[in-house]
Amino acid sequence: MSRGIRRIIRGRLVMCLLFPAVAAAQTPAGPRLDRLKAELARAIDARAKLAQQMVDQVFSYAELGMQEVETSAYLTGILERNGFVVERGVAGIPTSWVARWGSGKPVIALGSDIDCIPQASQRPGIASHEAIVAGAPGHGEGHNSGVPLNILAALAVKDIMARERIPGTIVLWPGVAEEQLATKAFLVRAGVFRDVDANLFAHVSDEFGISWGDEPALALISALFKFKGQSAHAAGAPWRGRSALDGVMSMANAWEYHREHMELAQRSHYVITDGGDQPNVVPSTAAIWFYFRERDYERVTKMFEDAKQIARGAAMATFTTLDTVQVIGSAWRPHFNRPIAEALHANAVRVGMPPWDDKDQAMARAVQTMMSRPDSGLHTSVPPLRSPEEAAKASTGTGSDDIGDVTWTVPSVTLYYPANIPGTPGHSWADGIAMATPIAHKGVIAGAKVQAMTLLDLMLQPKLVSDAKDYFVNVQTKTTKYRPLMAPTDQPATWLNAEKMARYRDQMRKYYYDPSKYETYLKQLGISYPTVPMRAP
Ligand SMILES: [Zn+2]
Repeated sequence: MSRGIRRIIRGRLVMCLLFPAVAAAQTPAGPRLDRLKAELARAIDARAKLAQQMVDQVFSYAELGMQEVETSAYLTGILERNGFVVERGVAGIPTSWVARWGSGKPVIALGSDIDCIPQASQRPGIASHEAIVAGAPGHGEGHNSGVPLNILAALAVKDIMARERIPGTIVLWPGVAEEQLATKAFLVRAGVFRDVDANLFAHVSDEFGISWGDEPALALISALFKFKGQSAHAAGAPWRGRSALDGVMSMANAWEYHREHMELAQRSHYVITDGGDQPNVVPSTAAIWFYFRERDYERVTKMFEDAKQIARGAAMATFTTLDTVQVIGSAWRPHFNRPIAEALHANAVRVGMPPWDDKDQAMARAVQTMMSRPDSGLHTSVPPLRSPEEAAKASTGTGSDDIGDVTWTVPSVTLYYPANIPGTPGHSWADGIAMATPIAHKGVIAGAKVQAMTLLDLMLQPKLVSDAKDYFVNVQTKTTKYRPLMAPTDQPATWLNAEKMARYRDQMRKYYYDPSKYETYLKQLGISYPTVPMRAP
């Protein structure tokens, strides 16, 4: 033991005896870190205008998975103007990118999703269903807010690192096509996280939901099954035809019979993406798209193998052929790193909830009433850090999230931040109402402060980085090792949503946010906030 260390220990002991409360707070990084965190909060408040502009701008682009062209060009432009080096087209995905700033260790990544939801176009700030463009996609999940949050956090921390000469690298990356769980496993395979020490993900919510351990979510494989038949006049010579749609429907029926014999935890669902052209032509092609969800790698892989056998059987029974089976997306069940979750939660408690006002609460209550939910308004306190058991209890459903693959590759936590209204159904136009209003703007600012403080914790406290790694190696992955759910030959489905987006792009362009003319997107659309029904006195 060196003399220096002994002196520190003795000094601490004395301090503990005299001032127990003070001693606990004064770790070596303590007072400096504390001062810098207060500075971070002020720096992010000072960028409130940028927060509003970014959130509104991405909301107005509303691009579906794999088609986030305007969104990615806009966000990377901001990063480049602020000194980040941007690599585009990462992992063979045109709208994917990685932005880096700084040098040396630690390398800390900040990620968040950027895609939106089909048919979720919605005028913000209005407590009723009114599309901006009827039938068009919209941010009915709030993915317009996460990368803006990460940019605010990164810019604030970068300024401090540059001034104080703090070593380290900040890496920003987008979750492309999260709704199809279509890219994160490919980012992992491409080595995006090879040199990353920790990953802070951010996802919109209605509260600061922070947990460690297994998420209450399911592993997933999504796959498209294409059948081939023989076309013929459906009335004139049906005996010469072989219907690919019969193959698809037989597969779906057989899956429904099989469902009775599956374990209860499974979730599986499908849509027919190609059912032929018109009734008097026997369909020569047909396609069915399945999502298979189960608790872990083994079970979800078994489900997929069962489905392939059923597909082959369906083809045989209908005299058609199973043309291709293409994996479109895959996801491990996420597992969040405990030491990082604890640091993140401490920062959420420090920052506290966004300063909601009466208008925000009136907006929230009107939306809740419209959805026939309790009109409790917006949350006003930060819940405790959740263990896996508590996270399961707080969860209302069983989705999947391809952040799972990242969490099994590098120590990671998702920061759920309060920027939307409690009680919305998710994946819906109703979830878009708040997402270009002060609720989203304030939520992003509060979330950015938490993210920035945790980023600084990781940059200044090597022990947090090593504790995170220790948990990752000796607890999380001690017995479970990551293996991709897709085959080495599977490639990103970059064609996803191209036709849907092309159908609406020109109409949507007229409604892109123009911050040079309008203070906010609400003003551009001529919406007074909040537009809610009169309440009976
Ligand atoms: Zn999402």
